[in-house]
Amino acid sequence: MSLSIQKMSGFVLTLARGLVGVAFPEICICCGMPLQQSRFLCHYCSYDRFEDANPGGADSCAGVILPDMISVQDAMWIYDKNDLLQQLVRELKYNGMGALGLELGRLTGRQVAGSRMRYHISSGSEIILLPVPLHPKRERKRGYNQSERIASGISEMTGFRLAGIGDVTRIKNTRTQTGFSMSRRMKNISGAFRMNNAGPFGGNFVIIVDDVFTTGSTVFELARTIEPAAPVGIGILTVAMA
Ligand SMILES: [Zn+2]
Repeated sequence: MSLSIQKMSGFVLTLARGLVGVAFPEICICCGMPLQQSRFLCHYCSYDRFEDANPGGADSCAGVILPDMISVQDAMWIYDKNDLLQQLVRELKYNGMGALGLELGRLTGRQVAGSRMRYHISSGSEIILLPVPLHPKRERKRGYNQSERIASGISEMTGFRLAGIGDVTRIKNTRTQTGFSMSRRMKNISGAFRMNNAGPFGGNFVIIVDDVFTTGSTVFELARTIEPAAPVGIGILTVAMA
């Protein structure tokens, strides 16, 4: 009897260790270096490994043309040749690493949002973070919305307010846009979002938050959806840029 209890407590301990390991991996998920503090990424991968997407702090990253309604677009890192950053984003989106989103959001908030985005608001307005909504079916399947996790991390570091869940919803479950032409993407995403509550956006500066900026078709459509609420400005902020 006592043996089986011992066995059982051993199992519980292993299970507990396993759970802790999932929540706080002890090695950097990028380079495998042991971590001092459990934060998914080592210091080098957090601050030095990836290239700054907008080193000059311009209104948009190189090569990005913005529609009139968007005044600023920024990203923390730009995809590198060895695809490591792409793999990291894949972990965030498809391998259940939702907590990684929070950490990437913290880094984005610390490195980009606080300094660059502040210049674009007029006095009296507030900055509202609007994560790109996922269709409920996709969010159920994934278990979380990675853009919401990123926005939470940015909010933590900057104090910018998060839009309410449900203020804007995704009503069209689009297939992945990869490989589509820009015009096909725009057509595919058209009418994908619905604004249910204009309150937080009117008179404020809205920063749309996503994981990766590629062609911008999704974030541009989201901006078009909230435009009738009359925000003082709209910006786009992502962890990475492809
Ligand atoms: Zn690392």
